[in-house]
Amino acid sequence: MLINEYTDAHRLFLQASLSERFFTEETAIEIYLQDQETFTEFMTTLNAKLNSIDLEFRKSHNEEDGSAVWALVNTNGDEIAKMATEYTPIEISFFRRLIELIVTADDESFSVSSITALKEVVKLKTSISKSNGEILLQRFVDDKWLSRSRGGRYSLSLRSILELQYYLKKEFEDYLSECILCYDIVTKGQRCEMAQCKARFHHHCARRYFDSKNNKKCPNCEIVWDSSNVIGDCDSIDSGSRPKRSNNQTTKKNTRSQKLEVDYDQMDQDDDDDQMEQNDE
Ligand SMILES: [Zn+2]
Ligand SMILES: [Zn+2]
Repeated sequence: MLINEYTDAHRLFLQASLSERFFTEETAIEIYLQDQETFTEFMTTLNAKLNSIDLEFRKSHNEEDGSAVWALVNTNGDEIAKMATEYTPIEISFFRRLIELIVTADDESFSVSSITALKEVVKLKTSISKSNGEILLQRFVDDKWLSRSRGGRYSLSLRSILELQYYLKKEFEDYLSECILCYDIVTKGQRCEMAQCKARFHHHCARRYFDSKNNKKCPNCEIVWDSSNVIGDCDSIDSGSRPKRSNNQTTKKNTRSQKLEVDYDQMDQDDDDDQMEQNDE
């Protein structure tokens, strides 16, 4: 792709976003405000510049409602180590352990109860007391590193998924699946009934995909798709039971499902256009 010239508009956008690092696409488009390039071209030009210093603007979607978000992320190194400006080394080890528990949770629940989380503080043999552990968990939630459901379970936040995705994919390749439609990590969504099938969808991606189909079949193995077979913490979503699968413990390595032949970039472009039209009003 031809890269456009890096201008003051890009510079200003970068400056404005440095303090936030993480924002909705609506906000990004408000800051963008120029007509030389489309928003997508604008972000491509910016990223071409940022890639040389191991940074990039990355687009993802809120797993709960599918709304588009952008984050300025590191593309190199250990992102968790960069939390050192806000947390002590012991607090960071606790966070790493929580991430591990969440990602490797049984039956793809991608969440951990507060009781289990607090037991970990004790197990780590740190100087953090149980009550300080509670305060620390609250800080992780306040800083948007973790989400807490109505039922009191902790899961990965959108910020964690976006900013730590290289770390997550590297460390937990066998446990995390990508959405078969948008290729982002899925920690809240739907899975195929077949234990051996790796097909996963975000809820909004499943709606998008199956809306135009007459019958709901797994795009990977073609068995009937049951959208009530959900993964992630059920408390955080409005409906759907979670039937347990008998043979879920198959190894995920090297069994990546085939990606769909869907032009998702084009769909994103359509989204961008919609957003920009709204913005023009
Ligand atoms: Zn998706
Ligand atoms: Zn399948």
